[in-house]
Formats: sequence, C-alpha cells, structure tokens
Amino acid sequence: MLADNVFLKIIDKTIPAKIIHEDERCLAFHDIGPKAPVHVLIIPKKVIRTHDDIGTEDAELIGHLHVVAAKLAKDLGLAAGYRLVINCKEQGGQTVPHLHMHLLGGRDLGWPPG
Ligand code: AMP
Repeated sequence: MLADNVFLKIIDKTIPAKIIHEDERCLAFHDIGPKAPVHVLIIPKKVIRTHDDIGTEDAELIGHLHVVAAKLAKDLGLAAGYRLVINCKEQGGQTVPHLHMHLLGGRDLGWPPG
C-alpha cells in the first residue's frame, strides 16, 4: 500500500496539482478527493516516509509546516476552526508514503474520527 510516492511527482511538477503555497521547504495543494469544503495537503519537500520517521533534525521543518498551515487556514477563511490530521502507516490510514498534513475545514468535523 505504501509504495508509490505520488507526492514526489507533484514536487517535481511531473504531474499536476492545484498548488496554493510553495517555498524552499514545503508545498501545499488541494487534495484530489476532498473530504471537506477545504481540504489541503501540506508536505515537506524532504522525503520523510511517515510521521514515525521524523527525527530530531526535522523539528524546525515540522514547525514550519504548522506555521504554513496556520497561514493557509487564515487565507482560506477558516476563522471558525479547522483540523490538522497526519495519518501514520497502514493502521493510521496512510496511503501515500510521504509525510503530509491534512488541513480540513469549512464544515463541522465529527469526533472521534473513524
Ligand atoms: P493519506 O490517506 O493520509 O495518506 O492521504 C493521502 C491523500 O492524498 C488522500 O486524501 C488523497 O485524496 C490525496 N491524493 C492522492 N493523490 C493525489 C494527487 N495526485 N493530488 C492531490 N491529492 C492526492
């Protein structure tokens, strides 16, 4: 399941995506199968396969992803609230083997998640 890293192709621009933010460390684009009115993925350009693979050397990078997420939430009008999700490995529901943060909003989000 965690074999094909489609997000590397988005970083390389070999496949298209609706990119809304790019800097030297990360990329953000609209999810191809949105689960909420706003569903954006924020990914590091560095290849980190899963959340479980984050090292202490990645602390600043992970913090940067959160700063970008907060900015995008403002830009996308999510003042009422939003959710950040990182699925990790098969049991966590991860399907793409490249660390990514889901930014979801625009509707009431249920809890607990499925
Ligand atoms: P996860 O299940 O947490 O690994 O999330 C992977 C997400 O990537 C899913 O929400 C997919 O809809 C999304 N996705 C897969 N391929 C693409 C693509 N080419 N462009 C944008 N989003 C994608």
